[in-house]
Amino acid sequence: SIVILRLGHRPVRDKRITTHVGLTARAFGAEGMLLASDDPKLADNISDVSKRWGGDFYVRNNVNWKAEIRKWKEQGGKVCHLSMYGVNLPDAVSEISKAEKLMIVVGAEKVPFEIYELADWNVAVGNQPHSEVAAVAVTLDRIAVADPLKNEFSGGELTILPTECGKRVVDNRQQEQGSIE
Ligand code: SAM
Repeated sequence: SIVILRLGHRPVRDKRITTHVGLTARAFGAEGMLLASDDPKLADNISDVSKRWGGDFYVRNNVNWKAEIRKWKEQGGKVCHLSMYGVNLPDAVSEISKAEKLMIVVGAEKVPFEIYELADWNVAVGNQPHSEVAAVAVTLDRIAVADPLKNEFSGGELTILPTECGKRVVDNRQQEQGSIE
């Protein structure tokens, strides 16, 4: 199982990017996101997406990050902190992939230095600055055994039928095929 720990989220400024971290984590196979800030609306928005599009991705609002990391490690979980300063992902991926329980930590602004010490691995998705959304996506893709783009999300209200042109969406509530704009 893989969970994302999102640090440093500032409710107004980071609303969009943290939502994208959550949605990307969900789409690429994480089971949930722990938010180390208080923004219940953000958690609700992501839950709405899960209800609509399936799966059981969760967001836990306002967690105490230190306690969560401690608990995770006590349960035998490993912690991978993503920052551009770490060991480059291609050099760490075989080790990280072995973890059965993996917490992936991403920051917003500067993360507390303690994170570097608590992490089992400090990993860079290339040693250049970019984005926590990209870092989560590439990491989940590289460490996956099965292709995360083939993940299926059951129980949602809507299912997309891939099509070469246009939009085909099944409304599972009506068992009717339609298109939404
Ligand atoms: N300025 C901040 C600092 O010095 O720590 C980082 C800001 S960056 C936009 C926000 C987050 O994106 C980082 O905490 C890290 O998790 C992630 N990130 C950005 N570039 C990355 C990279 N090359 N590899 C891994 N993670 C990266």
